[in-house]
Amino acid sequence: MTELLVNEMFETIQGEGSYTGTPAIFIRLQGCPVGCPWCDTKHTWEVLPERVQASDVVLLKAAEDDRYFKASTSELFTIIENKRWCAKHIVITGGEPCMYDLTDLTQAAINKGFSVQIETSGTYEVICAPDTWVTVSPKINMKAGMPVLTSAMLRANEIKHPIAMQKHIDELDQLLRDTELEAKLSNKAVQPLIYIQPISQLERATQLAVETCIKRNWRLSVQLHKYIGVE
Ligand code: SF4
Repeated sequence: MTELLVNEMFETIQGEGSYTGTPAIFIRLQGCPVGCPWCDTKHTWEVLPERVQASDVVLLKAAEDDRYFKASTSELFTIIENKRWCAKHIVITGGEPCMYDLTDLTQAAINKGFSVQIETSGTYEVICAPDTWVTVSPKINMKAGMPVLTSAMLRANEIKHPIAMQKHIDELDQLLRDTELEAKLSNKAVQPLIYIQPISQLERATQLAVETCIKRNWRLSVQLHKYIGVE
């Protein structure tokens, strides 16, 4: 049984991609070697043995930090039941959640009547239950030099790409060619959705994202949670 290292769990509204607006329970896993310079969860990067704590202590954190707890799938669902959260959608994020085998957790969520979504950088193979919604936000040319895997891109139900300038759209185009995804994109039955997400609500990025979405028939993701002031 996979032991998961959990940085935080909380209930909120999903603000990105196709599940935008959906009440969701977020499970943030600890650990990520990718090294994106703008990462807003840098406290999840390292797995330091001295930072492991009891789940009730970690779940009471008042601010983000690198403490985490260890849990099995059943222990996570005990927490969800005890919290009496109402959301029926679970988002497994990180850090990089695909460092873990997520089969147990995703299958258990589906068996209990949740929909379940993984948010990944695409740098690890995605190991999960078949009905899991997989969001790949491909991290291209980051510090660790880890390639975005073709297997992850082909597994994606949606590809969500943050952009600030044309260069980022060009990088996505190149990646779609490199990962053999272009053929899949022309087949409506299996094509993933492509979302463009302007970085940090910047005006120029938003304008470029809107123009690109209209031109390419891609979709716009605007990080709704930042507009409504929730986590
Ligand atoms: S992949 Fe995600 S968690 Fe890892 S460094 Fe990049 S943005 Fe941060």
